[in-house]
Amino acid sequence: MAVAVSPVVGAGLPRTVGASLRVPVLTGERVEYANLDHAAGAPCLEQVRDAVDELLPWCASVHRGAGFASQVSTRVYEQAREAVRRFLGARDSDSVVFTRNTTDALNLLARALPRRTAVVLFDTEHHAALLPWRGPHVRRLRTPGDPAAAVLELDRALREAPVGPRLVVVTGASNVTGEVWPVAEVVRVARRRGARVVLDAAQLAPHRPIDLRALDVDYAVVSGHKLYAPFGAGALVGRSDWLRAAEPYLVGGGATARVTDRGGRLGVSWSNGPERHEAGTPNVVGAHALATACDVLARHWAQTLEHERVLLARLRDGLRSVPGVAELSLFGAGHDRVGVVGFTVGAQDVGYLAAALSAEHGIGVRDGAFCAHVAVQRLAGGPALRASIGLGTTEEHVDRFVEALRRLVTEGS
Ligand code: PLP
Repeated sequence: MAVAVSPVVGAGLPRTVGASLRVPVLTGERVEYANLDHAAGAPCLEQVRDAVDELLPWCASVHRGAGFASQVSTRVYEQAREAVRRFLGARDSDSVVFTRNTTDALNLLARALPRRTAVVLFDTEHHAALLPWRGPHVRRLRTPGDPAAAVLELDRALREAPVGPRLVVVTGASNVTGEVWPVAEVVRVARRRGARVVLDAAQLAPHRPIDLRALDVDYAVVSGHKLYAPFGAGALVGRSDWLRAAEPYLVGGGATARVTDRGGRLGVSWSNGPERHEAGTPNVVGAHALATACDVLARHWAQTLEHERVLLARLRDGLRSVPGVAELSLFGAGHDRVGVVGFTVGAQDVGYLAAALSAEHGIGVRDGAFCAHVAVQRLAGGPALRASIGLGTTEEHVDRFVEALRRLVTEGS
């Protein structure tokens, strides 16, 4: 198939490191790596690498000293909170707590909920959003096949929820299908029923601008490694009151305002700021990397959205032309989605296909159940494949993937 590379796609986009990395394939040749697994983790931006490089000589423990390096690190760390706040359109009064990733952030929030908070969520969530909630007032709803029905189900569940604090957990974009959830409608229902909303933005944030204030969403969680920063830093952003009232997520240095010896008994008062939940020496490099990625992404939304629109259409069209491919969908093929496509290929062994795409063609995709076992089992009846695009993806990557898959499928059948 002739590869038509449009000069528009990719123009003006921030560059990722390893953009033209070459990897060995079975023939002994080296081919350019086609990374179609951005949903699992996106390669770092060049600006992020440079920002980290610049910080490293000045790295020191934050909030821990008067030394110059410690002051620089502290300033960088606190500025990083503001960058994440800006990126997500959070309110000035919101807390920005740095975590290890989205999973960590959701576990933190789950631990910080007031007693007897009723939690309502759908069962097709990623395990990070599905599993942290405990107690008798957690309701996991079966995800219906259309978004309007999902909103109605949610409304019904909230109407039946016990009096008291309430939280709705909703994903911005599914990591299985890429479909975008109707967050504005979810918030409207939640507000009517006196519930707060936490947005799992792990997959949405790399692909779409988010404005928590405009959406009136209470909390959002993100992972740096899906936002073109390295691993190890994420954030929980949102209303401060529950976070301030909760026991610290971790206890130790940094989370305390004051510790006293009261005749052999310790008196501890915890900090009221975000550091209440960040005990231990924080990941200043990770926070700076995440913040830099946020700033860079925020400056390039127009190009990013266009790049992804074109490539996603090309990817979906290409996949439709491969015999046996069935795209996974929660809400129907026409529903809005980000650059993530889950699919099956008839009765073909997806583990074999993913391995062959890598070994024979230098193409990285994901296979399995993507940490969303309920969703994948329901939609695919077993393991599936997932191709996901990002800033480093080119038309050539997409075309090579589609042709390689077609060859594997037709040769194997
Ligand atoms: N939520 C969604 C929608 C995801 O796709 C993921 C990761 O793939 C997570 C949460 C968990 O992210 P992490 O593994 O970075 O904690």
